[in-house]
Amino acid sequence: MDRAQILVIEDLNVAGMMRNRHLARSLSDSGMGELSRQILYKAWWHGVEVRVADRFFPSSRTCSGCGELKCDLDLSARTYSCGACGLVIDRDLNAAINLARWRPKEPSTVTLLLPMRPPLLSTA
Ligand SMILES: [Zn+2]
Repeated sequence: MDRAQILVIEDLNVAGMMRNRHLARSLSDSGMGELSRQILYKAWWHGVEVRVADRFFPSSRTCSGCGELKCDLDLSARTYSCGACGLVIDRDLNAAINLARWRPKEPSTVTLLLPMRPPLLSTA
């Protein structure tokens, strides 16, 4: 297979982030709602399963090498460096690896998105 079968996106707590004045401007500028709508539509069109990782999954703070959870990850740090195993990795790549491995606690809550059906969104 040369394309993705499953797409994992994060259910980001946008309302919570909007209360952070440093993030509020960039979030409102980026149009988060429009982006997720576009992603869901494209996935639905191509028959790709969409899994929505719950907002409490610590994708950024978990080491993709050893699973160590970092309690003090600075929002501005672009590199993730693990104190436990010594892994140094791009912050977004680390989070993406963790999301790719993420599995819902309840498989039945994941909706397979297929053409000719309304795009349904499920959360874990
Ligand atoms: Zn580690």
